Amino acid sequence: MEECDVLVIGAGPGGLAAAKGAKEAGANSVVVVERNSKTGGILNQCVHDGFGLVRYKEQLTGPEYAEYSKREVEALGVKVLLNQHVIDVSTEKIITTICPSGIDKIKAKSVILATGCRERTRGMISIPGSRPAGVFTAGVAQHLVNVQNIMPGKNIVILGSGDVGMIMARRLTLEGANVKAVVEVLPEPAGLARNVSQCLYEYDIPLYCSHMISNIVGKKRVEAVEIVEIEKNGTSIFGTEKILKCDSLILSVGLIPENEVANTAGIKIDKKKNGVITDEYLHTNVSGIFSCGNSREIMDLADFVSMQGEVAGFNAVAYLNGNSMKKWSNKRSTAMKKGFPVQGVITCTLCPNGCQIKKRKDGFEGNSCNKGETFAIQELSAPRRILTSTVKTKNGELLPIRSNTSIPKECIKEVLKKLQNVIVDVPIKCGEEVINMTEEDENKEKIEISIISSATVL
Ligand SMILES: Cc1cc2nc3c(=O)[nH]c(=O)nc-3n(C[C@H](O)[C@H](O)[C@H](O)COP(=O)(O)OP(=O)(O)OC[C@H]3O[C@@H](n4cnc5c(N)ncnc54)[C@H](O)[C@@H]3O)c2cc1C
Ligand code: SF4
Repeated sequence: MEECDVLVIGAGPGGLAAAKGAKEAGANSVVVVERNSKTGGILNQCVHDGFGLVRYKEQLTGPEYAEYSKREVEALGVKVLLNQHVIDVSTEKIITTICPSGIDKIKAKSVILATGCRERTRGMISIPGSRPAGVFTAGVAQHLVNVQNIMPGKNIVILGSGDVGMIMARRLTLEGANVKAVVEVLPEPAGLARNVSQCLYEYDIPLYCSHMISNIVGKKRVEAVEIVEIEKNGTSIFGTEKILKCDSLILSVGLIPENEVANTAGIKIDKKKNGVITDEYLHTNVSGIFSCGNSREIMDLADFVSMQGEVAGFNAVAYLNGNSMKKWSNKRSTAMKKGFPVQGVITCTLCPNGCQIKKRKDGFEGNSCNKGETFAIQELSAPRRILTSTVKTKNGELLPIRSNTSIPKECIKEVLKKLQNVIVDVPIKCGEEVINMTEEDENKEKIEISIISSATVL
């Protein structure tokens, strides 16, 4: 049986950072076991930007963040086993996996669980109505669009205004769908204020807060959904029903820590949230087994997941050597403002502080640094965005791409149209230029736009 010092289950940002933390703390042999065919976890399908501002001081897409994390563990000599699904962890820290060659076992001195999360489904929230095709979870819809090149529908209603739901509303709109509405049971949007303005307001996508879906209509395929306004106590208000015609309903109604593996080791799980219970050192009730990332607690930012992973890795080695461990402070997981953006207030998106900047007669207030003022001036005069999307490759797969720098907002639709006809030769490295083009901004000035690859495809 193979043996190692630290074994990490899951190669998402949490698991990769945990492996890095363990190696840097002096572990001789660190093994990461991942059930997918590549590392990066959920980040591979999150082609939008907004990752990495804390950890890498750059505005990265999900696949780029995954690539950076992968390079770190490769450079440190971490062993990564792909296509291996962990089915059992014993209290003696013997890990059983299913892999293409059969069943394998690895003995570790310390284990870190970084198995991520799964989505809540229709069955879990009991939406009334018929059972037609066309009801997807947001993660499935995201995988269809960003990885499989399949649109889930043309006329779409999204339930849930968390960040995942809002990001999907923008993505589907940019891909040509008509997003009829985002419906939210809470009186305020559940996600970040910056996503409300950048994903919904900028694309005129209606947001119905304090509403729920009271019926799904359709026999074979979804034909419409009925929404209704609700009171604070959750009861529906008679007479406020509206029918929204659509062919798809996308559910973005929450994430649940994925903890089947933790159960096999007898690890204590929070009954309400399903997260692994740890102490402040990320140590579970089973001696030598640690947990980090979304399998412990759902976290907004991948950067914080990685920072937590590094602490778990460090502590797993400290446990082996009998050294003192580092504490993790939960405060770090929620930094940016959530809910409605305030009228006339600009959310600075340059770092996760998300300062709320307001124009005064003689300047600006609310920005914690000078960069915020420059950002606010730009937002008020000529807003720019990083364009993110996918293009086809010659081998038939989709390649995530982004503009090398932010581009005028008004150019985004035109550039996306042109990218539909681009077919990229592979192999290609993350950061390599895919295509260069010239566009006109609203003042008819010519601007050069460089589109780069967000991933490495060999
Ligand atoms: C749609 C969406 C948009 C997001 N947008 C942003 C954003 O803009 N900015 C940002 O910073 N963050 C964003 N996030 C959050 C961020 O992506 C997550 O918080 C982060 O990826 C969680 O990392 P993780 O390592 O805990 O889990 P994951 O990334 O889910 O990785 C878990 C890994 O464990 C593997 N695994 C699970 N069980 C097993 C098993 N039994 N055996 C072997 N392997 C296993 C899985 O295959 C997976 O690879 C977004 C998340 C989503 C879903
Ligand atoms: S103003 Fe400065 S500190 Fe505040 S979000 Fe912008 S860059 Fe960050």
